[in-house]
Amino acid sequence: MMGPAHSLSGAAAWLGVGAAAAALNHPMPWPTLVVGALICAGAALAPDLDHKAATISRAFGPISRTLCEVTDKISYATYKATRKAGDPRRSGGHRTLTHTWVWAVLLGTGASAIAWFGGRWGVLAILFIHLVLAVEGLLWRQARMSSDVLVWLLGATGAWMLADALDSSNGKGWLFTHPGQQYLWIGLPIVLGSIVHCLGDALTVSGCPVLWPIPIGRRRWYPIGPPKPMRFRAGSWVEIKVLTPVFFAAGGLAALGALGVFGG
Ligand SMILES: [Zn+2]
Repeated sequence: MMGPAHSLSGAAAWLGVGAAAAALNHPMPWPTLVVGALICAGAALAPDLDHKAATISRAFGPISRTLCEVTDKISYATYKATRKAGDPRRSGGHRTLTHTWVWAVLLGTGASAIAWFGGRWGVLAILFIHLVLAVEGLLWRQARMSSDVLVWLLGATGAWMLADALDSSNGKGWLFTHPGQQYLWIGLPIVLGSIVHCLGDALTVSGCPVLWPIPIGRRRWYPIGPPKPMRFRAGSWVEIKVLTPVFFAAGGLAALGALGVFGG
C-alpha cells in the first residue's frame, strides 16, 4: 500500500484498540486516544525505511536518507544470512527485516525504553518523529506542497502541545498505572503501526514476510498474504476507492466506541 492508506489504517487500528480497551474497562483518556492514533499513523510508515523512495526515507532530509541506506544494507545482510533453500536470491533489502513482527516488537520496546529513561525529552523525541510522519501520511497532499521545514515545525509544536495534554491529564498513565510506569504504553501504538503496515503490504501482489524467522516449508522469508485473486497492486483503485474509505469509517466508529458514545 502507499503512505496515506498505511497511515489511515494505523490510526484506525489504534482507535480500535481504544474501543476494545473501553469495552474491557480500561478506557483511554482522550489524549492517549488522540496521541496514540497519531503515533500509530506515523509508525505505520516506518517499515518502508528500507526503500529510498518511501515517505519516511525523505521525511527528515539527509538524516533519514542515510538511515535508509543503512537499514537497507542491514536488511539485505539479514536476508542473506538467514535464508533457507526455498527463499529466492534477491538484490536488495526492501520488504525483509523491517517488515517482520520481530522488528515491530524491537521498535516498540525501544520506544518504551526511551520514554522510561529519557523522561519528557524522550517522549518529545518520539512524538516529534511520529507526528512528522503522521502529517506526511495523513495530509500528504498538503505536506507535499509545503516545505519540509514547515512540516518539522508543525511536528515540533504538535509534540510540545500533545506532551502537555498527556501530562496534565492521566493520559500518560494509561494501562500501566503504577508509579514510574508512565508512558510505557507509548511502545504499543508503535508495535501496532508496524504490524498494520505489514498486513497492508500482505494484501498486495508481493505479500509480506511478517512471520520471519519462523520457517514455513523450505522458506524462512515466506511472503504471507491472502490467495492470489484477492490481492491488489499498491496504489490501485481498490486501495484508494475501497480500502481508504473503509479505514476512515472504521476509525470513526471505533473512536466513538472508545469515547463511550455507545453507552456501557
Ligand atoms: Zn512496506
